Amino acid sequence: MNASTTAPLAPDAPWVVLKFGGTSVATEARWRTILELAGARRARGARVLVVVSALAGVTDALKSLCGSAAPERLAAVERLVERHHALVHGMGLAECAGVDRWLASLRVLSQEGGATADAATSQPLWQAAVQAHGELLSSALGAAFMSANGLPTRWLDAREALLAREVPFLNDRARALSAQVQADPDPAFAAALAARGDVYITQGFIARDGDGRTVLLGRGGSDTSAAYFGALLRAERVEIWTDVAGMFSADPRQVPGARLLQRLDYDEAQEIATTGAKVLHARCISPCRRARVPLLIKDTRHPDFDGTAIGPLPPEAAPSIKAVSSRRGITLVSMETSGMWQQVGFLADVFALFKQHGLSVDLIGSAETNVTVSLDPTENLLDSDVVAALAADLARICRVKVIAPCAAVTLVGRGMRSMLYRLSGVLAEFGRERVHLISQSSNNLNLTFVVDEGMLDGLLPRLHDLLIRAGALRTDDATLFGPTWQALYGVSDSHVHAPWWRAARTRLLDLAQATPRYAYHLPTILERAQALRAMRSVDRVYYAIKANPHPAILRALARAGLGFECVSPGELDAVDAVADARESPRLFTPNFAPRAEYAQVMQRGLATTLDALHPLQHWQELFAGREVMLRVDLGRGLGHHDKVRTGGASSKFGLPVERLDEFLELARTHGVRIGGLHAHLGSGILDASHWPVVCGQLASISEKIGNVRVLNLGGGLGVPSHPGEAELDLAAVDAALAEVKRAYPQYELWLEPGRWLVADAGVLLARVTQSKRKGALEYLGCDAGMHALIRPALYDAWHEIVNLSRLDAPADTLYQVVGPICESGDVLGADRRLPNSSEGDVLLIAQTGAYGESMASRYNLRPLADAAVIE
Ligand code: ADP
Ligand code: ASP
Ligand code: MG
Repeated sequence: MNASTTAPLAPDAPWVVLKFGGTSVATEARWRTILELAGARRARGARVLVVVSALAGVTDALKSLCGSAAPERLAAVERLVERHHALVHGMGLAECAGVDRWLASLRVLSQEGGATADAATSQPLWQAAVQAHGELLSSALGAAFMSANGLPTRWLDAREALLAREVPFLNDRARALSAQVQADPDPAFAAALAARGDVYITQGFIARDGDGRTVLLGRGGSDTSAAYFGALLRAERVEIWTDVAGMFSADPRQVPGARLLQRLDYDEAQEIATTGAKVLHARCISPCRRARVPLLIKDTRHPDFDGTAIGPLPPEAAPSIKAVSSRRGITLVSMETSGMWQQVGFLADVFALFKQHGLSVDLIGSAETNVTVSLDPTENLLDSDVVAALAADLARICRVKVIAPCAAVTLVGRGMRSMLYRLSGVLAEFGRERVHLISQSSNNLNLTFVVDEGMLDGLLPRLHDLLIRAGALRTDDATLFGPTWQALYGVSDSHVHAPWWRAARTRLLDLAQATPRYAYHLPTILERAQALRAMRSVDRVYYAIKANPHPAILRALARAGLGFECVSPGELDAVDAVADARESPRLFTPNFAPRAEYAQVMQRGLATTLDALHPLQHWQELFAGREVMLRVDLGRGLGHHDKVRTGGASSKFGLPVERLDEFLELARTHGVRIGGLHAHLGSGILDASHWPVVCGQLASISEKIGNVRVLNLGGGLGVPSHPGEAELDLAAVDAALAEVKRAYPQYELWLEPGRWLVADAGVLLARVTQSKRKGALEYLGCDAGMHALIRPALYDAWHEIVNLSRLDAPADTLYQVVGPICESGDVLGADRRLPNSSEGDVLLIAQTGAYGESMASRYNLRPLADAAVIE
């Protein structure tokens, strides 16, 4: 420490409270960081109060000690003595009187044990006194270390400052182990501390009760201690230093793709903490909010990472889900009555019993004759005795069922109701399992599903991904959503790479002399083609040229060894027009095409797919003695939007499997061979198991037909569009297909992807025309509208939009990006955060290589966008 940490402070110097969790105080290296952080704040002219947890694992050890017999208790104390002494020495301190004092008092307490004459009430208080030693020890150690290293630090007993308040109906255990403190700014307390010193260290987790006895603030309660002190001192800031860089959009240990939430308002942070994010104790927000003290969450190992700032925020125009969290150990109490629960007084009687047992209810669901409530273990000290006693009492007024263990999974975000329409994928995920209770909070901030605890495995990563895919977790908004945990901590994040257009920016700006204009990057397409060709289980790949029939793309893919799947004579002609592609294998897979088209194509000797009875019923002569492919409808559709799902009765594609026998009979009658079976269920599928499942189904149908050579698994290979959304795992598709192939070695496997090959390779360049403010909304117009790119209007497709002229400027304005077409639906991107943009700026609409130019129209008689190719 240097002179700046000893220079006198101004009389009105602000307080900063720094809280360090268990892993942040467990090693000498972490204590050096604490010393530096405290010293730096002192040097900047602030008074510092450091609040510490017990060393990681110590509270657990003390808790289990409390439940042990005397000899084990003593052994446990000796292990703690050893651990603390080792750290004292590791920190370069010859000895530490403070640590020894608390070790001695722990020995005495644990010898005494908790059972005295009044066992029922003394036991919890004894437990509290024992467990308080974790924090008493770590804070004593810290005071000695910091003072010995040049930052004079006073040890403060938290029990002097924090007094538990009387909460009616709390039972003795809750009163001792999960106490609450009323902490309002107390200038006299702040002045008294300031008079005695500049830098303090104190304990998290502990307080005193009205009789001066030690009580605890609940597991994880050190955060709350910091918040109480922050409020008492009306600190400039409370900093929570932990083992992760902030609050993430999900628990990063379960969801490595979770995004750092860079800023949150108190309400949202409160909701995320209460619904399960352990990084902040649920009770620590409200003291800070009441005293208007901002909170900052930071990683002790990486003080340079940004962290999460929590404080008052202006209301956001665009609602977004911010996080998905989960809580285990939820108990549901279902109460059935033969009368109606609405009858006067029934609920009052029920809830009176919860009150009597000191239990607070979290969620409530009701039906005609049933009320179901949940009990949350973070708010209740739940043990089976308490629940059993409650159930026994309830049984006198209704039929009771206790369902446990359950888990609550919660989506959190401002404006939840306005996002419900995006959540169909999420609801479908829950639809597969039994959901005991769904609850939407009346503050419009959360939607909670209570399920069996066993269902939680693997669920969170899936939900997180679905939320991103649905555009409900708006990861494109870089002011709110920071990097993924994976990216921050350098854990393999191989699929996140900069898109090609960043490096090609100058070239693209040059191409944007005329707009709207598409630009296609051939190296990206070739890379994709090679990846498909490298799939060992797939014998042939046909490019579905409807995605993008640009001649340069056809040429490149023909050279890469792909065939072409065409749905009209026009598409066949487009392949013919490219010299290199002319000789490539081709498929004709039309839908409701007229007779003349089949006649023409059969004459050319091309492989043709039928997907109805009509052609064999009415045009047999075209097919007699020839081979055709048959497209079947497996009865279900899949994909990113209703309009791209191509299976099931509501879709016009494919021969329903139940009419297969009729088709086979017609084929036999007319000597038509069925060379291959084909199925394509939809587009934008990211689930690797899809194609192997289809393959298995087609194989088993083919066995009935006999002599089938080819199984064509269609396309549908999805490309993620939102930042952070997981990619399709092609290697997993390949491995699973190889498995099916081992069972059915007689079939050739074909794929016919379109979008997967070309989507990422294309961008649409547009120029800003005008901007306009309407109410709270800021419109940004550009010269590319739904005539140039119809996907957003047709499929609600989400395309990343950037201002290429100001690519690295801070994106601080929320825009509705619209085109020039006379339709209200002419919106390319709603709620997009972009740099403040001006007329003439070049916008880039990403991932438009597929179904962009090929679906463009001249609506409003605007000219078609042209296209440039980057070799
Ligand atoms: P400390 O001991 O520092 O108080 P905790 O273990 O109590 O730390 O809290 C940090 C942990 O919270 C993280 O390591 C992480 O696993 C967990 N966690 C759960 N949900 C979230 C979330 N949404 N964001 C960040 N961390 C979370
Ligand atoms: N040491 C206490 C616990 O482990 C309090 C805390 O760390 O926040 O629960
Ligand atoms: Mg904690």
